[in-house]
Amino acid sequence: MAYVVRLRWPQGVCCARCGSAQVSKLARPWRWQCKQCNPQGYRFSPLVGTVFENTKYPLTIWFKVIYLLCQSKKGISALQIHRMIGSGSYRTAWSMCHRIRAALQPAARPPLRGLVEVDEPYVGGKEGKKRKAKRRRRNGTAGKIPVLGALSRRGAVVTQVVDTPDTRTLQGFVTARVSPQAELVATDDHSGYRYLRAAGYRHETVRHSRGEYVRGRVHTQSIESFWALLKRGLLGTFHHVSRRYLPLYLSEFTFRYTYRTDPHRFERMLAGGVGGV
Ligand SMILES: [Zn+2]
Repeated sequence: MAYVVRLRWPQGVCCARCGSAQVSKLARPWRWQCKQCNPQGYRFSPLVGTVFENTKYPLTIWFKVIYLLCQSKKGISALQIHRMIGSGSYRTAWSMCHRIRAALQPAARPPLRGLVEVDEPYVGGKEGKKRKAKRRRRNGTAGKIPVLGALSRRGAVVTQVVDTPDTRTLQGFVTARVSPQAELVATDDHSGYRYLRAAGYRHETVRHSRGEYVRGRVHTQSIESFWALLKRGLLGTFHHVSRRYLPLYLSEFTFRYTYRTDPHRFERMLAGGVGGV
């Protein structure tokens, strides 16, 4: 509890409802009260409004689940977590994982800079070893879900599930997620990116349709290895992921990839869960 309090309110406990710092500690452990938003006194626990609210599982079990989600490169199934923590039912482990994933929804991340790669694969379903965007389209995309991703070679990746990867969608995604100051925006030769230069981006393409994959620093290989990790996870660990839950798994993979070399990954994930930092 002390750890949660520290992460949530690094400057000292504030009201969980109105944010006021004028709170008083109650005799009951881990309870505070605020008279700013309620003259009778609004009583709250540090867990209110966090992913840990209203569960019968102790925080230490939650921390274990968060640790396991942080550590598993290709994801870990709820069944596996259920076995490792001995939760009452598989369903419990499943909903704990989903609560944590939902808390990792990327907040307002600053637009990506540096050398950036953007790509638009289809995920979910059973995709073979096809790489070329063209071939993917020609073979049909039944049952697969279009996703957009942008990766800065400095480390961060952002993703989004979309309805159709058309020009408007691609253009909108790049302008929202990538800074025009980025040194380079590398994509394949999907025609949806054709207006990026006009929008002020240093856009270069590799012509996947002609078998060109690398031209100096122009390539999309870093983001493709991210997709490979995601696809292996979706197929091998989670089997079938529907459109409804895909954003949650994307958050998980995006988070883990972005912070893969960060020694404070666990704390960051936990902070996401308490809405802090
Ligand atoms: Zn208050």
